[in-house]
Amino acid sequence: MHAINPASETAGDAPESRSNFIRDIILEDLKTNRYNGRVQTRFPPEPNGYLHIGHAKAICLDFGLADEFGGKTNLRFDDTNPEKEETEYVDSIMEDVRWLGFRWDGLRYASDYFDQLYVWAIKLIKDGKAYVDDLTADDIRKHRGTLTEPGKDSPYRNRSVEENLNLFERMRAGEFPDGSRVLRAKIDMSSPNVNMRDPVMYRILHAEHHRTGSKWPIYPMYDFAHGQSDSLEQVTHSMCTLEFADHQPLYKWFIEQLGIFPSQQIEFDRLSLTYTLMSKRKLLQLVQEGRVNGWDDPRMPTLSGLRRRGYTPQAIRNFVAAAGVSRTNGSVELAMLEHFVREDLNKHSLRVMAVLRPLKVVIENYPENQTEEMDAVNNPEDESAGTRKVPFTRELYIEHDDFREVPPKGYYRLSPGREVRLRYGYLVTCTSVVKNDKGEVVEVRCTYDPATRGGNTPDGRKVKSTIHWVSAAHAVDAEVRIYETLFTKEDPNQVEEGKDVLDDLNPNSLEVIRAAKLEPSLANAAPGARYQFERLGYFCADPDSKPGKPVFNRTVALKDTWAKVEKKQGKG
Ligand code: ATP
Ligand code: MG
Repeated sequence: MHAINPASETAGDAPESRSNFIRDIILEDLKTNRYNGRVQTRFPPEPNGYLHIGHAKAICLDFGLADEFGGKTNLRFDDTNPEKEETEYVDSIMEDVRWLGFRWDGLRYASDYFDQLYVWAIKLIKDGKAYVDDLTADDIRKHRGTLTEPGKDSPYRNRSVEENLNLFERMRAGEFPDGSRVLRAKIDMSSPNVNMRDPVMYRILHAEHHRTGSKWPIYPMYDFAHGQSDSLEQVTHSMCTLEFADHQPLYKWFIEQLGIFPSQQIEFDRLSLTYTLMSKRKLLQLVQEGRVNGWDDPRMPTLSGLRRRGYTPQAIRNFVAAAGVSRTNGSVELAMLEHFVREDLNKHSLRVMAVLRPLKVVIENYPENQTEEMDAVNNPEDESAGTRKVPFTRELYIEHDDFREVPPKGYYRLSPGREVRLRYGYLVTCTSVVKNDKGEVVEVRCTYDPATRGGNTPDGRKVKSTIHWVSAAHAVDAEVRIYETLFTKEDPNQVEEGKDVLDDLNPNSLEVIRAAKLEPSLANAAPGARYQFERLGYFCADPDSKPGKPVFNRTVALKDTWAKVEKKQGKG
């Protein structure tokens, strides 16, 4: 893992304060004084993977809304699955929440409540509301019924309270092997809601837990832990994604049986992005199979991946706010996320010149051994960013694509006989080319007009094109990594029969350019530093950079397809 100085960045103004239905509910509760003016939320990740852009939506809602109303937010790890959870995930989740610019009030773990949950389980047994079932997992599934058929009672459903207590205590004492018994809530096997058909509350699992060690041979199910954890923390507004709507009656049932504080659960739509997979299980598979270079691979939709790629917290928060909240799941265009990072980077990043695919240019009438320091503007969007000096010499590199020996119609960049402006430099005219044995152009010869220093034309003549360049003698060699989407399909979850999601990985998702030429100011770019490479896109220095040998990730190209879409829709 590479940390890119997370503490130094916080998001600015809060885009979360836009109106949405959850905010309206909170406003109404404040008006009616439902919780004595209190707003308390929590963000409850399971520490079984790194956070992704979908989690950012939940984080912005949980923290953003509480912040807006002077409330509190706990970060609570719902750590009820010891086999899949690790402290590495706990640490990365904390880092990512902080990076987004949020600070939690309490740091909690569902495992903090294991003792209390156990006491509550005993209470439910004593009240005749829970029983120990000896059916196998398979048989429990068979007894559960379907959406159209009611379930069947387990033969163990009517055990006496004494027998249940005895068995549950022995489960707790570690007497029984994994999977041999469970504790179930005694609700209604014919409920139309499958979640109410005597759900499992506890399972036997002799596994080390990342926090409680080997203290517990039994673990509460998520559904027996989540609602009560909210209640214990006095959470007023418990936001979660839509798939939990069907679990809400169960959470309420537990709360009512136990007579404890009822948190209000509010469901919202999951964020999905085109060309992006958001399942933690699948992301883990990508990492484990080495299909990507770790959780923070810049192609991953994880917050650590986006950070490494050059995304800013502000861009992510602006995007999440613009994507909005609703009660139906949909999918958001990846182009929209890219639009928001461009918008933010445009305001804040320094412009520099970098040549990704270098073509040598020799200016024949420019003195050998002369270097001029040209003034270059750091950020036209921000005058306070100032200017810098860029060395200009007789031999330069330009982008291969900015020269054509035979220019197609409408191509105004450099070609034989054509004059173009070198940004912040001079106007140059191509006089001839040098070719290799294969007939490829390997060098372009030009002349320059000394009267055009800085790119101005005293006689007012126009050139149609301005191109970027780097002095050959001063150029810094760099590796530049260009990314495309990780999946070729707009909806990677749509898989043909007999195929796996990972079969649709884009073979061209990473292109490594090993011999890019950068202007000298970038020689020691600090990992995490973001720039606009003029005319190319936004780039961020990677932690793999070494002094004098930077590595850059392309965050996003300059072309904004989303802005075009919006214009078409009449919003632009
Ligand atoms: P899994 O993919 O393993 O089912 P999860 O994505 O639900 O897990 P959690 O760690 O349980 O991951 O999520 C923490 C919180 O983030 C939950 O409240 C969950 O509803 C929310 N969340 C997860 N994915 C998204 C998403 N794509 N959009 C919005 N919120 C999400
Ligand atoms: Mg979950």
